[in-house]
Amino acid sequence: MARPTNITLCSFCGKSHAEVKKLIAGPGVYICDNCITLCKSVLDKELLAENKKTAPKFVVPKPSDIKRHLDRHCVGQDHAKKTLAVAVHNHFKRLLQEPPAPVSRGVPDELDTARHAGVEIEKSNILLIGPTGSGKTLLARTLAKVLDVPFAIADATTLTEAGYVGEDVENIILRLLQNADYDVKRAQMGIVYIDEIDKIARKTENVSITRDVSGEGVQQALLKILEGTVCNVPPQGGRKHPQQEYIRVDTSGILFVCGGAFIGLEKIIQRRLGHRVMGFGAAEQGRRSSAEDRDKVLQFVEPEDLISFGFIPEFAGRLPMTTVLEELTEDQLVSILSETKNALIKQYAKLLAMEGVELEFTADALRELAAQAMQKGTGARALRSLLEKLMLDVMYDIPTDEDIVSVTVNRPAVLGEAKPLLRRKSDQAAA
Ligand code: ADP
Repeated sequence: MARPTNITLCSFCGKSHAEVKKLIAGPGVYICDNCITLCKSVLDKELLAENKKTAPKFVVPKPSDIKRHLDRHCVGQDHAKKTLAVAVHNHFKRLLQEPPAPVSRGVPDELDTARHAGVEIEKSNILLIGPTGSGKTLLARTLAKVLDVPFAIADATTLTEAGYVGEDVENIILRLLQNADYDVKRAQMGIVYIDEIDKIARKTENVSITRDVSGEGVQQALLKILEGTVCNVPPQGGRKHPQQEYIRVDTSGILFVCGGAFIGLEKIIQRRLGHRVMGFGAAEQGRRSSAEDRDKVLQFVEPEDLISFGFIPEFAGRLPMTTVLEELTEDQLVSILSETKNALIKQYAKLLAMEGVELEFTADALRELAAQAMQKGTGARALRSLLEKLMLDVMYDIPTDEDIVSVTVNRPAVLGEAKPLLRRKSDQAAA
């Protein structure tokens, strides 16, 4: 039986006003709430499929791009930056070929690896050899930031083999997991920096037996996570307890960067090379500094030298990429103070700008600060404490003294012979 024509019907499903919750009118047509919901779900599905097709594929960053980023934050250390850039580039390619893949970044389902099927790209952790304050931690941290992956720092000297008092190696992974907000997938593609790795070398001479054993034990424990293992991480950290629920983290996609000063390693290398190192000893002849001599010899480092230094062969083998960071020069320290993206002086200037005060360092003040830092022998590390001491009074006074408009730090101020020069509003008004 035909329906009466004066009743409005949904133009899509034909239901009447009485049969649906809502009927929306268009020019000469109607649509009910049921049909709207249905259309919406069809659209959503199609859009999702479309997005999947057009979503940007995860692009492995090019080594040159990675290096450019590192250059903005870190002065010098060109060879180390190149090595890191290549290692990270390959590391991401490796992550794309096998799980755990960086799913959160939209990894392509397939990679054009057909021709090389069956070839496994091995994990390539990195060893940074360089003096204190030369930028080892900075490089690892900057890498993590550039790549937008979680980052954690550990100190090898606090680590112990399981069962001893100290920190278990799993805690390193826990820290990474915490920094990834407990997102296991993200943590599995993070970067870990292990500092003072040289301190866990087995000492063959002049060191007590207990220390020998602990060094080797820690190397064994670290070896596992460096190689790639499924680690049971106690979520609260601390000691493992049978009742505790563990979070399982696969470390095979985590990039480990280890760093240390390796004092004395150059002697081992030199002994191996004999007199083949061209120009070595120039320091004694006054042509080069002993730091330059040391850096030059270290370039020749081979895994066997690390083994002679006290690494067990398997551990040395797990750090196939080794690079040497040079001792920073005075000129480089000046650049670190004033030129890098987050240079210390820029940071102070920003803090003072918030108070409406301008900050200036004269060129000779910068040079004097760098010279003082060189004396301390802790690389760029000394710069911060020198500046903090120098700027303490200014930073204390400025928030309460609204009369100050600018601060100039000159060489006498750095030498402690005078106070930084302050320019005041009242002086300007009087002039
Ligand atoms: P390391 O790990 O080699 O002992 P860090 O990377 O911790 O040294 O550096 C200590 C401080 O000095 C950090 O604040 C860092 O910003 C700065 N620094 C060290 N080396 C450099 C460098 N090459 N370029 C810029 N800043 C540096």
